[in-house]
Amino acid sequence: MAHFLSVMVATPAHSRLTGPLVYLSELELAPGTLVRVPLGKRETLGLVWPVQPLETPASEQLRAVVEAMTGIPALSMPWLEMMAFAASYYQRSVGEFALGSLPPQLRDLTPLQLARKLTKRHKRPPEDDITASPIDAPLLTEEQQCVLDRMVKEKGPFVLHGNTGSGKTEVYLRRAAQVLAQDDGSQVLMLVPEINLTPQLEERVRQRFMFLGEASIVSMHSGMTPAQRLNSWLSAHTGQARLVLGTRLAVLASIPHLKLIVVDEEHDPSYKQQEGARYSARDLAVYRGQLQQAQVILGSATPSLESWHHSRRAVAGEPAPRYIRLSMPSRIGAGQLPVLRRVDMGKQPRNTLLSAPLLAAMRERIGQREQVLVLLNRRGYAPVLHCQACGWKSECPHCSAYRVFHKSDRSLRCHHCSLTQAVPRACPSCGNQDIGALGHGTERIEEHVAELLHDMQRPDGMPLRIARIDADSTRGKGELVRQLAEVHDGDVDVLVGTQMVAKGHDFRRVTLVAALNPDGALFSADFRAPERLFALLLQAAGRAGRDAALSRDRAGEMWVQTFHPAHPLFECLKTHDFAGFAEQQLTERRQAGLPPFSFQALLRAEARTQDAAQAFLNAANDSAQAWLQAQAMAVTVYPAVPMSLQRVANVERAQMLVESHSRRALQAFLSHWQHDLKGLRGMHPAVIRWAMDVDPLVI
Ligand code: ADP
Ligand code: ZN
Ligand code: ZN
Repeated sequence: MAHFLSVMVATPAHSRLTGPLVYLSELELAPGTLVRVPLGKRETLGLVWPVQPLETPASEQLRAVVEAMTGIPALSMPWLEMMAFAASYYQRSVGEFALGSLPPQLRDLTPLQLARKLTKRHKRPPEDDITASPIDAPLLTEEQQCVLDRMVKEKGPFVLHGNTGSGKTEVYLRRAAQVLAQDDGSQVLMLVPEINLTPQLEERVRQRFMFLGEASIVSMHSGMTPAQRLNSWLSAHTGQARLVLGTRLAVLASIPHLKLIVVDEEHDPSYKQQEGARYSARDLAVYRGQLQQAQVILGSATPSLESWHHSRRAVAGEPAPRYIRLSMPSRIGAGQLPVLRRVDMGKQPRNTLLSAPLLAAMRERIGQREQVLVLLNRRGYAPVLHCQACGWKSECPHCSAYRVFHKSDRSLRCHHCSLTQAVPRACPSCGNQDIGALGHGTERIEEHVAELLHDMQRPDGMPLRIARIDADSTRGKGELVRQLAEVHDGDVDVLVGTQMVAKGHDFRRVTLVAALNPDGALFSADFRAPERLFALLLQAAGRAGRDAALSRDRAGEMWVQTFHPAHPLFECLKTHDFAGFAEQQLTERRQAGLPPFSFQALLRAEARTQDAAQAFLNAANDSAQAWLQAQAMAVTVYPAVPMSLQRVANVERAQMLVESHSRRALQAFLSHWQHDLKGLRGMHPAVIRWAMDVDPLVI
């Protein structure tokens, strides 16, 4: 007798087809089994879904499952539940989420090919001859021991707050070791924000857990080949991998015996997917922890204000905080915390790039063979080219942005649509030959620093080395690693870079870090800008003086050039007072009703004209108002506005903010609205695409 099966297939975003389809199968297949099914004229990968088909249509209309991939174990119920939750929370179809999260190769291999791959894996030599035990594990500090004890006794989730160098990673490794020792099947997931940071962690993890065998540690990130991704995924799914290290996409992997999830640098914006299904890997990690009864640790020197707020101290009569906060205030083996020095740029000569006091301090450090890190959040030579005669500026013809002048290859490049052209010899508008650069980027600072320090040399008579690391300098594969190694070896005296270099890299000889113009974030329209700036500066400061021997006599220095030296953000930075900064920000957010005291979503639309994009949003607003009034629901839909970067590659972009004090109300509204929007879309053919962003990070 044939069975009716519900099968989820990948459906395009916003298609009206969101639920599972019904197929016939000779065999009864367990939920979570991967199958190949016919869909239209093609064949596609599907997932047996744990619901009984509601109606049983006449079986002659039904098509049959082509093949079941019984060679691999079915996906577990908690995994299926997580996908269902994520899809509903982020307003996508389950099929898109669930099948989209599988390694692409899984979709292309036939069951036979897959079975071969699996048997090959099983033929690996057994690893029970490995008897080594954990090596190189340092004696825990009192703080670390204390934190670890709480993790053993309590369930969590935990927010582990500790400066760079406070020994958080050591805590992760110890907790992982405990969890792995609990039973011989348990698995651990460790997430890091960026691919660049996986090799560092991987090396440390491999060293520590070598005794488990080579094959029990796998990485997962988007820089891997399809074959590597499939291998890692199968390893995790079959339980062979005991430790999975990865970037945000790893949170969606099948890890059936997951017992611990670590999210390192949990505040990092890279945990939020910025296209397609815009999920937050950090938030999903917490949800996943609940589903699989896995402990969750969110670690950071500057936790997101959401996590900070959720881990506030319990107050009688108020709902219990969701997270447990654990702190490790000390720094291990490092010298004193760096000292903050502010240069009031209002008192410097106009157009100063590097102020005299900063330059003097740099010279002194370099003279001692110490390293200096100069941070600027803008790559290229100058953000704009400008004609003084007629006022022409290097606007991108396709975007509402300027093309950036790159001196190294004399190009004008749009950082949004990638349009690249040679720099014109004369003003394209009036023919004036004298067009100049406005503002400064990392390339120009690199050049400027070289000029200012041209009279200096190293004690051995060798010239100084000034290097730059940013997205331009590290385009080639392996470039970043190579350049970082040079800095690490002490081969570079001054490193100029974007925030890319402030993250996680351990430069031992850096004793001075300078942020040249952080002011933009102080008064930004984006309410999260100060939070990001504080995290960046504190993290950058953490780069200075990691070497205890270097900073024993003299602390490292963090320099900030600003027109607002008395700004409260810098006052907190001065005392490395994250808690103080967080309280101040949270007070402001509470007063303004901003997250984490409210919940937000954005509806975005793109069209050839701004009017068309906004017309769709306005229609969406009308339908929203009607429903919200009928339901008496406290959700606010704000008017449609152009996005701050209004036009990219000739596409006009608009957005609309939705806000509520109740997450549940917002969710109920969004899932209702989603259906309206799919209908509305048909009446607005000028709209190219639309998307919902739940818990957006950038507004
Ligand atoms: P974080 O992850 O907070 O930046 P790490 O765990 O990387 O901190 O620790 C910082 C440095 O201190 C590392 O070099 C690490 O090996 C070392 N370390 C960590 N814990 C201890 C300890 N208990 N005893 C000695 N050294 C330690
Ligand atoms: Zn001109
Ligand atoms: Zn452009």
